[in-house]
Amino acid sequence: MTPHPERNDRLAAVRDLLRRLKLDGVLVSDRHDVRYLSGFRGDDATVVVGPSVAIICTDSRFWAQVDEEVQGFDLVKVDSAELMAESVQALAERSAPGASLGFQGSVVSYADYRALRRRHEGGLRNVGARLSRLRMVKDAEEIAALRRAAALADAALERVVAHGLVGRSEREVAWHIRGEMHTLGAEDESFATIVAGGAHGAQAHAIPGERRIARDELVVIDTGARVEGYCSDITRTFATGKVGGELRRVYGIVLAAQLAALAAVRDGAHGQRDVDAAARAVIVEAGYGEQFGHGTGHGVGLEIHEGPALAKTRGDRLRPGMVCTVEPGIYLEGRAGVRIEDTVLVTDDGCEPLTRFDKELRVVD
Ligand code: ZN
Ligand code: ZN
Repeated sequence: MTPHPERNDRLAAVRDLLRRLKLDGVLVSDRHDVRYLSGFRGDDATVVVGPSVAIICTDSRFWAQVDEEVQGFDLVKVDSAELMAESVQALAERSAPGASLGFQGSVVSYADYRALRRRHEGGLRNVGARLSRLRMVKDAEEIAALRRAAALADAALERVVAHGLVGRSEREVAWHIRGEMHTLGAEDESFATIVAGGAHGAQAHAIPGERRIARDELVVIDTGARVEGYCSDITRTFATGKVGGELRRVYGIVLAAQLAALAAVRDGAHGQRDVDAAARAVIVEAGYGEQFGHGTGHGVGLEIHEGPALAKTRGDRLRPGMVCTVEPGIYLEGRAGVRIEDTVLVTDDGCEPLTRFDKELRVVD
């Protein structure tokens, strides 16, 4: 079997990283990185990459699945309880026993780390997020999946609001969105949909409850679909009838902030200093800086939250092919929340929105 051409490039990028970090190999435990490198969609495998080895280690639950999904890797059959220890053993058998190895400290448990220490004689080094950051710039195939995931979330949201919101519970609306995504061909939601009406909307990550959506309030809906593993992320805030002067004004401020941030997204822009700053300047200027506590955006891909960062305290340099969200918000405790979010593709001279649901304040009964 010939390996997938993009996967060859991805392995080459990992090997390049190994050379830069002066490592003889790396144990990849993050399941999104495992999928990115090998194509394996299961959740319990370790990929081991060395200068001339590419191994996938997993237990009997997944051997048939590896045969179906993975090309160009040696399958090492292990016992699930010993995954980490047997993975490092597999590498040791194919290279020097005193090899210097990288591992992903953010996803390896303390128990696995101890097993690694016991079994491995050579050096061990946490590679942090360096490996996952190889996923930030998307290739054509990934962008195509992200486009479909975004279009599907738009379509599901349209179908759900066409049924109206007033009198329905937040939870019912959230399940309806999920159902429409399923009908439209999504694998799943990319995260648990947020539906939050009235004062509940002031919680940026509200959990939809039995609360019924009332007339004349704002409703924040934050959702996304997953297609071929890739996530989309969109938030719209709706009005269920008449909303007061301040809330309408706040909506206008958030929209202006979002448009300012979108205008700042381009090749070479910095997530914090350019994009987050653009959104924040509009909101601070309007007097609501304290009510915008979260960052302006995040990368989206196999994970709903990944690099690049576009936050108040940190950011990454944007490059064409990166896909990220732009999602400023204002939260008025005890009253309402407003957030407007799109998933966009960074291009040479700007960005292309992948989610396209309209952004004028829409009144839904
Ligand atoms: Zn979102
Ligand atoms: Zn988001």
